[in-house]
This record gives sequence, structure tokens and C-alpha cells, in this order.
Amino acid sequence: MPLFHSKPPKKFSLPHRVNRLGELAYNLWWTWNLDSQRLFSRIDPILWETVDHNPVRFLRKVERARLNAATNNRSYLDFYDRVMFAYDQYINKSETWFSINYPHLVNKPIAYFSMEFGLHETLPIYAGGLGVLSGDHLAEASDLGFPLVAVGFFYTQGYFKQHISEDGWQEAHYISQPFEDLPVLPVLNDDVSSNTISVELPGREVLVRMWEVHVGRVPLYLLDSNVEGNTPSDRNLSARLYSGDLELRISQEILLGVGGVRALRCLGYNPAVWHMNEGHSAFISLERAREAVEAGHDFKESLNVICSTNVFTTHTPVPAGNDEFPLWIIDKYLAGLWQQLGITRQEFIDIALHTSPWGEQYSMSILALRTSNGRNAVSELHGNVARKMWHFLWPERQEEDVPIIHITNGVHLSKWLARRLYHLYERYLGPDWYNHIDEPELWDQALNIPDEQLWDVRRHLKRKLVAYMRERARNQWIAGGVHPVQIVAAGALLDPYVLTIGFARRFAPYKRADLILRDVDRLLKIITNTHMPVQIIFAGKSHPDHEQGKLLIQNVYRIVKKSESGGRLVFLEDYDMNLARYLIQGVDVWLNTPRRPNEASGTSGMKAAINGVLNFSVYDGWWREAYNGMNGWAIGGDYDIEDPDRQDEADAASLYDLLEKEIVPLYYRDVNIEGMPIEWMVRMKESIRTLSPQFGNRRMLKEYLDRLYLPAMKTDRLDIP
Ligand SMILES: *Cc1c(COP(=O)(O)O)cnc(C)c1O
Repeated sequence: MPLFHSKPPKKFSLPHRVNRLGELAYNLWWTWNLDSQRLFSRIDPILWETVDHNPVRFLRKVERARLNAATNNRSYLDFYDRVMFAYDQYINKSETWFSINYPHLVNKPIAYFSMEFGLHETLPIYAGGLGVLSGDHLAEASDLGFPLVAVGFFYTQGYFKQHISEDGWQEAHYISQPFEDLPVLPVLNDDVSSNTISVELPGREVLVRMWEVHVGRVPLYLLDSNVEGNTPSDRNLSARLYSGDLELRISQEILLGVGGVRALRCLGYNPAVWHMNEGHSAFISLERAREAVEAGHDFKESLNVICSTNVFTTHTPVPAGNDEFPLWIIDKYLAGLWQQLGITRQEFIDIALHTSPWGEQYSMSILALRTSNGRNAVSELHGNVARKMWHFLWPERQEEDVPIIHITNGVHLSKWLARRLYHLYERYLGPDWYNHIDEPELWDQALNIPDEQLWDVRRHLKRKLVAYMRERARNQWIAGGVHPVQIVAAGALLDPYVLTIGFARRFAPYKRADLILRDVDRLLKIITNTHMPVQIIFAGKSHPDHEQGKLLIQNVYRIVKKSESGGRLVFLEDYDMNLARYLIQGVDVWLNTPRRPNEASGTSGMKAAINGVLNFSVYDGWWREAYNGMNGWAIGGDYDIEDPDRQDEADAASLYDLLEKEIVPLYYRDVNIEGMPIEWMVRMKESIRTLSPQFGNRRMLKEYLDRLYLPAMKTDRLDIP
């Protein structure tokens, strides 16, 4: 079978000598290959920024004269040839880590389902950490050569753009994605109508179109209901991510689960492993059961096979966060299905029934847990929480024997690493370093990097962040319609030589963005100390339907705007992967203050760590496993406090004490003649050395393979004609 079912269009008119730039623009390999980004930016650096690092739009807009200039530039052409050679080697590689280690398994596809994929800021089909994790999963699966194929949604309006009004209120703007600018391709088949599959919703068939994104060597199929022949409301089913409307949500989940299975079948896949990233896609189990029964298999027996080939990753440590539907919705949407499966309504409902204080619900997490033999949480502590939370499904077992393992999340290294650091690591860890990034011994050599060189890069990255933020503030000012104080709040007064703390994530209340503001006077005293000033940058979106999250943003924004803060507190609008990259590379300290144990894992701190940023975080999620006393700072202790108010109080006290007595003095005292903080550098290297191998997602993908994918691959697949 070919790797992909689509080809990049020949729509750009490019000089022949560099015409493969068009091909490169349509494979997201460029998003984690740092040289290939330069291939575009070198042609026209300003345009590259203006088009938000979108090579498809870049090639549509770039002036012919600039392309011609590049074609006449010897050093550019050498560079072009080198990158294209690397690209060909990568894509056509016959031997990968996977094929060398598991040659007999290369024809056993792993299907990976997720409601969101964070691949790059120009493809806004993600809301936050879950999506970024999925996107990183694909990139690393491609690097290792896993036979992985992914399924998700093509949200035509994407996730919203955030604007903050003068009084701190979040406004959400949905922008229809200009299709011709996206690296998304129509699936080509001999017969055009076979681009589309159909899915039953109450009283109608909804047509779903398949699109393809090339993620290195991994194909990602995106489903889209905006198809001629559907009613206007059905055409909007896949327009936006995460609606609060239950019927819209179940419709989307049916499209993803049922439609996703049909899409893969239509393209000729018979996956050996079906991985559900979160419960949104759990209907794949029911669709697989339906097709097995239709092919003449017994329901119970086929369910056994389905369970042994399914893998489910849960990310939700709070019961209320799990996706559930009232039974009337199940009756309305799935009544046809239990008849097709040959079981009763009660038997059907029982598979996923959740009897909770607020009544009987159909739980997508329970459906996924009951129909998957591979189940995992995303950090050690989250594993404990998940086993406790789902103990009632295995009442005969002890809590610690509840069959949910944990595989701690990780991040894709070259996707999040600053280019200059990449080259510094290359120099001191050896030319072959990237092939060994999950080996702790490799990273011991990080201690050999001269402090001055590491510090130089760190300073450069902070200057770059500050320059970028000022530029954004300037453009806001020029665009008009904003009050001057909003320009200050956007970072106009930032100083590239001041200790800088970053806090950026979704504004969900459990993430406690306002914990550091609990004692505003104390905070202002710390940050405005003229000898040892501190600046703090906040960013993050609230779900547009969640008043609480929007109030949190408003609360933070009000304090940011205070003149007493001297412009040293900043709120950046419209957090996305681009802003995330600037922040996790540019700040000195990455702050994370979730209410323990609600942060299942967290990944932004890992991105910061590989870049030499020190973590300052609550003992929760990944940080509880990562902190060793010397590689950052831990807020609070390794225990739960039941009363949330007491917990906030204790954590805030710990936070202020550490900031005042340890972090700030460490940064400003004991500096050498160049202003480099000696002890700080020791911690920075300890953080890079200990965290990079453990929290990169190469370690994570290999764990998924060993502990979940390989056992699933042992099961013989059902014959589905
Ligand atoms: C990494 C990332 C996240 C996840 O951050 P957490 O630490 O899990 O909160 C969210 N949004 C964006 C844009 C990211 O890049």
C-alpha cells in the first residue's frame, strides 16, 4: 500500500530549480525539521513572519523576484539541495527503527484516533494539551517508523482567536479557514465519489469527506461534514471544536468513531491496533462490533477480539470532566445499533452505564475502558487517581490492581527545541545525538557544554521573545481601537535583562492562574524590587462557554493593568503553538500551579525543560516524577490537602517563599563578570540532563509500543470482507 492517498498540488508557479518547495510545504515534516523552515524564511524573512510561518500561503504570496534571487544564490541552492536530500532520505527510508526491530510487524497498522491534533499553529484543529500531545505522537511515530495512521476532524472554522477587551473580557472570533492556505489534501481515488463515506444520524445519512495531511511518514485523515448533499446544519457539524451542545457533541463523536472506522476501511486499512486518545472516539468499538456481526461473527466473540486490539488513553482525573450523555440521547441517536448488534437496549446501555448522583448517564470513558484491554493514564500520580476513580468497574479487585497502567507523557524534541540549542546539543552530545535522545547517558554530556555558550543562547532566546512581544504590541497599537494601557499589558515595557517567569495554559479553574495573585501586595513587592525585578507573562484561552474561566482571565488582566505593577505583569492574547514556542524557549522560569491532583500530566513544562528553562511547579502530574531537588523547584508537598481553600493558601505561601528566598536571589546574586548566574547554570544543566531523555516522547512512544501496541498486535484480526 502506498504511504499516502493524495499528492501535493502543482499549483505554485516556482522556478524549476526550486520547485520541490511546493512538495515540502505539504508535508508537516518541515514543522520539526529546523533547516527546512529556514529554506522558506531565507527567501523572504518578513513575509515568512507575515504569513505566520505558513509555507503554503508563503509560496502563494512570495514575489517572483525573490524566488529568482534565491535561484541565483549559490549558498541558498546548496542549502536547498541538502534539505531536499534529507527529506528524501527521511520519506523513502526503507529501514526505520521500527522496521529494524520489528520487521514482521510492519504490516500491522496502528490506528490512532483523537478529537484534536496540534500539528502547527497554521492548522488550528486543536484546543490545548491533548491536541499537542496527539500532534507530537504522530511526529515521533513517523521518526521511529511506526506503521501508524491517524484519524481526526477537519474543523473548517478551527479553534477561536482570542481578543481581550479593555476590561479584561475574552472575546472569541471564529475565522473560516482559507482552504487554499492549509496543508490539507483531498484524498484521491479513481472514483471521486469514494472520497466520501456516510454515517447514520437520526432520520438521515450524513456524508463525510476525507482529507489527508502528510505528517512525515504518517498519514492523518481528517473528516469533514461540509459536503454538498448534507443539510446546512449537518454541514456545520464539523465546523468547530468542543461545543457545549450535547446533541452536536454526540453527532461529532459518532462521526469520529463510526465515520473514522468507515474511512479507514474505505482507504483499505485493516488496523491491528486501535488507539483512542481520550474517550471521544470510543464509538469505534461499537462500529467494529457492528461490522463483525454483519460479517457473520458472534457479538460476544467479536467483542473479545475488539477489546484485545483496542488501546485507550484517559486524560481526565476528575469525574465531572468525563464525557457523558443522558440516556434519551442514546435512545435517539443509537437505537438502530443494538438491533444490528443483536442485543437488547439494556445490554447495550449496560456497557457504558454510569449511575451517578445526577442520574443515569452513558459514559464514553466507561465505554472505552470496557472495550479496551490496553488502558493507560498519563503520569504515575494520574495512574493512582484513575485506578481509584474507576475502581467501581472492577469491584472484585484491590484498588492497586485495577487494570489501568500509566505511561507518562512526553514531547517531541526537535519540534519544541530552539534551533540554536539544537546546534549546541549537536556540538556537545555528538553528531549522532538525535538517534539517542531517549538514553540518559547521552544527556550526561550536557554537563560539557560551556556555561558561556549556553547562557548566550538563553539570552538570545529571551531577547527574541521580548522583541516579538513588543512587535505584537506595536501592531495592536497601530491597528487601533485599543486603550494605551492594553499596549502596556501586552508587553511594551518588558525588559530582556530581567528574570522572566512564564505562565501559559488553558484558563480552566483547576489550573489556578490566579494563585500567584492571591497576595497581590506581596507579589508587587517582589516584582518591583529595583535591584532584583521580576516580570511575569500570562497567556491562555478559556473555553468560550465557561464563564468561570473568562472571569479568571478578567481577574488576572485587572492586576496586569495596574500601574503599580510597572508593566512587569503581562497578558498575551491568543495563546497558540506559535506563542507557546516563543514562551517556552524564551522565559527563565516556567510556572505551573494546578490544584493537585487535577493535572493529569502537563506537557508545557517539558517543552520548557529541554530548552534550559527551569520549572517551578506544584507536585502534580509529570513534575512529581521529574523533580529531584536540583532541577527546578516544587511548590507544596507530595500529599493532597482536601480543603481547596486551605490548599490554595498553603500552595501560595510556598510559592511566594520560594520565589522570594530562592529563585530571585539565585538569579541575581552570585553572578560572574558577564552577569551570568553561576548556581543557576548548575540547575539549568541538571534540568536539561535529567529531564530531556525522560520526558521526550521517544521514550513515551517506545513505552506505548512495548506495553500496549505489541500485546494488541498478538491478537488475530477479525475477517471483515
Ligand atoms: C503544550 C501546549 C499546551 C499544554 O500545556 P499544559 O502544560 O499541559 O497546560 C497547551 N496549549 C499549547 C498551545 C501548547 O503548546
